[in-house]
Amino acid sequence: MTSKIHEEVLAANGKYVAGFGDKGQLALPPARRFAILTCMDARLDPAKYAGLSEGDAHVIRNAGGRATDDAIRSLIISHKLLGTLEWFVVHHTNCGMELFSDDVMAGLLDDNLATASFDGKQWANPQHGGGCTGGHFIKWHTIGSQAESVLQDVQRIREHPLVPRNIPIYGYIYDVKTGRLNEVAKATQAGRATSPS
Ligand SMILES: [Zn+2]
Repeated sequence: MTSKIHEEVLAANGKYVAGFGDKGQLALPPARRFAILTCMDARLDPAKYAGLSEGDAHVIRNAGGRATDDAIRSLIISHKLLGTLEWFVVHHTNCGMELFSDDVMAGLLDDNLATASFDGKQWANPQHGGGCTGGHFIKWHTIGSQAESVLQDVQRIREHPLVPRNIPIYGYIYDVKTGRLNEVAKATQAGRATSPS
């Protein structure tokens, strides 16, 4: 038993393989020596908005593009073992992470696990029962203001003891209406390298 989506993905992969060419020869370390931490939002395609080809750069994605412990783990590996020298933190306008709080998420999950709906103001479960209290024990890393979240995340990475001082960290907000990366000057300032490379 397979789903339509499952079949579509495998068919698309077949076409990709047919045109794969010499990409099998690419080196493991990213050729352009940089990394992007960004949101998983389906409208964002870092390969397109930042001009990446296979083998160029590391892209680390999670809900919000937040500098969580796991995102930082990846960035440290990216530099220490794979040689990236500049990092971008890219959040975006109209992010879903602005639309709920930890309490709201925990409350929804406590009630029911199926996909909730949003009416522009609040979230509601389609049915009730069968929930789980686990959501109360997770920090969801929601976002109040994009400019603040980018600054916070750049600062958190900058201050991490395992992140060398010579890596510049740039802060940006991607505009989902235009595709443009707009710099958060305060964040880039906070993320500047403080020792020569
Ligand atoms: Zn987002």
